[in-house]
Amino acid sequence: MENTEKKARVLSAIQPTSVPTLGNYLGALKNWASMSADNDCLYAVADLHAITVRQDPAKLRKQTLEMYALLLAIGLDPEESVVFVQSHVPQHAELAWILNCYTQFGEAARMTQFKDKSAKHADNINVGLFSYPTLMAADILLYQADYVPIGADQKQHLELARDIAERFNGIYSPTFTIPNPYIGKAGARVMSLQDPTKKMSKSDPNPKASVSLLDTADDIRKKFKSAVTDSEAKVRYADGKDGINNLMAIYSCCTGLDYDAIEKEFDGKGYGDFKLAVAESVIENIKPVQDKYYELMSDKAYIEKCAAEGAMKASYIANKTLSKVMRKVGFWQIKK
Ligand code: ATP
Ligand code: MG
Repeated sequence: MENTEKKARVLSAIQPTSVPTLGNYLGALKNWASMSADNDCLYAVADLHAITVRQDPAKLRKQTLEMYALLLAIGLDPEESVVFVQSHVPQHAELAWILNCYTQFGEAARMTQFKDKSAKHADNINVGLFSYPTLMAADILLYQADYVPIGADQKQHLELARDIAERFNGIYSPTFTIPNPYIGKAGARVMSLQDPTKKMSKSDPNPKASVSLLDTADDIRKKFKSAVTDSEAKVRYADGKDGINNLMAIYSCCTGLDYDAIEKEFDGKGYGDFKLAVAESVIENIKPVQDKYYELMSDKAYIEKCAAEGAMKASYIANKTLSKVMRKVGFWQIKK
């Protein structure tokens, strides 16, 4: 029987700024893998975004390849999904320029990530950091994505992408699909282990603040052991218990237990036992990813081949949208 139902298009990206954290995994990457069977998915390593903060070139190159391998290791199949590196597809930068001209200065200035990252990198508040959201809009709109799996921190950027798309469609004619955010429930916002009022970030310079997907089991135990909590010594989800709430959210994601069940399990037990259990559940969850990653990294030629094919497939789709956009804004197009 012919399957005429069109699959939804899904697009998401991650910056190769460091090894992904448990936050990236539970908030975004885990959904990427689970969505890939039923949707038409494209996933990118966002190296163009990464240079909005200063990067060491050799390190960036290495981290980009490693991030690509990790995407395969989390279970993305490069035959089934399009997995590519953003700078390998020039249409992203081209569409981003055009969208810059359809985005208001005031809109971009309101983005909280711009404010946060400007504060963190006060010596390098560059124009790229400011226009980051228009590049992200280009990433999404190029592929006519219906859904964008993201952590809660990217919601504001996605709303801006929708606004830009609606504006462009309104000025010309329907050109872009209006994308919807897909934010998983638990894990949407994993917090720092050292300051549970801030989100866990892979570019956080304090190694104790985040768990990386490639940390050893011992590192993971140590990091959870030193996680900041409170003095109540009771495992329960409540306002003002940011540290424990965060650990409960992580444990819930890794075990599938709800908060009531977790409170029951640790009734009468101290934080020490709870932290250890959280650590073990995380280790168990990421072990298969680590095993696959090290296996893949022993065959760099294979990874390169996948990236080259991914770039070709992405570029083919991106080009269709970009040519349409160029025609609509009035660029003189000549046959090549
Ligand atoms: P950086 O510090 O370099 O910005 P990051 O950890 O914020 O790194 P990104 O590459 O910016 O990671 O984002 C990749 C994906 O991970 C996005 O979908 C983002 O929403 C999600 N994400 C990032 N941090 C968290 C978090 N703490 N909890 C849940 N999801 C997150
Ligand atoms: Mg980020």
